[in-house]
Amino acid sequence: MTEAGVKGRPEIGVVIPVFNEADNIEGLVRRLVPVLERLTASFEVVFVDDGSRDGTMEALRRANAADPRVTAVSFSRNFGKEIAIAAGLDHTEADAVVIMDADLQHPPEVIEAFVAKWREGYKNVYGQRTDRLTDSAAHRMFARNFYKMFSLFGETPLPEGAGDFRLLDRQAVIALRAMGERARFSKGLYAWIGFKSVGIPFEVAERASGVSKFDIGKLTRFALDGLMSFSTLPLRVWTYVGVIVSIFALGMALTFLTQTLIYGVDVPGYASLIVSVMFLGGVQLLSLGVLGEYIGRIFAEVKRRPLYLVAERLGAPSQPDQAPLPLRHDNRV
Ligand code: UDP
Ligand code: MG
Repeated sequence: MTEAGVKGRPEIGVVIPVFNEADNIEGLVRRLVPVLERLTASFEVVFVDDGSRDGTMEALRRANAADPRVTAVSFSRNFGKEIAIAAGLDHTEADAVVIMDADLQHPPEVIEAFVAKWREGYKNVYGQRTDRLTDSAAHRMFARNFYKMFSLFGETPLPEGAGDFRLLDRQAVIALRAMGERARFSKGLYAWIGFKSVGIPFEVAERASGVSKFDIGKLTRFALDGLMSFSTLPLRVWTYVGVIVSIFALGMALTFLTQTLIYGVDVPGYASLIVSVMFLGGVQLLSLGVLGEYIGRIFAEVKRRPLYLVAERLGAPSQPDQAPLPLRHDNRV
């Protein structure tokens, strides 16, 4: 806020990832822009088209033609919501950046409360959903279990009900930009960067049009990414399992030794033999699988591929006033 008025830099930027949301764009802009106009004299809306295959780009073109403050960056293919958010943060130099969904589940009016808190000095203002009633029962159960696991194993505590709907001060945005990881679990990253934070409760609305883009497969991958990028416990737990199994095996060896010495050789034991061999085989494969999950992620990170590829830009989101980060692909022309 203090830096407002720096040449070409808007006070508020709104980043919106969109994937096949053609029918939602017009309604969203119509509700969002008046809210922003009430709040500030200079703002920009940066849509990130995540490789949509419907008329999303055409809808964005119309929105940009009608109001140049509405801009867009379009990916060469679908890279996923987390990466789309990262691209949005790369493309706005606003003093405060709001992140929200395109389907009006995040009511634009809540931004007024976000900005009020930001003007009080908070740098990480997050929307806190009061319920999950708009999610399906299966989705709710999945989320509940995931957060339970995350609070047990995760190394960064997540605030209750916090999601992507939030306002980040420029300082927090710059911190997030420095994180070049591909397996992006934004919720964890927002919590990890810290800064003066506060939650604003809000009620999640019904999706304006279309259906949720997250199926059970996408959610599972997202959950695994989240757990694995914020916890090494799944890797370390095998040390303890190994110790316990070895102690158990040693105990059994001693028992068999004394039994043989006292009673002589005893042949039966086929069932217990097979069960223990299969059990240990299972434990070993499981631990290998966990190693594989981490190694796959390490491989993806060390390849150092660009996080995303931009196919097209509409309008001019505020230009960066710093050199592009080495990890980010920038084909700005
Ligand atoms: N989204 C995206 N890329 C994807 C999936 C979703 O940019 O691969 C966007 C989507 O257009 C929407 C936001 O992410 O603006 C939230 O998606 P959705 O509403 O489908 O998720 P839900 O609200 O069910 O969690
Ligand atoms: Mg939604």
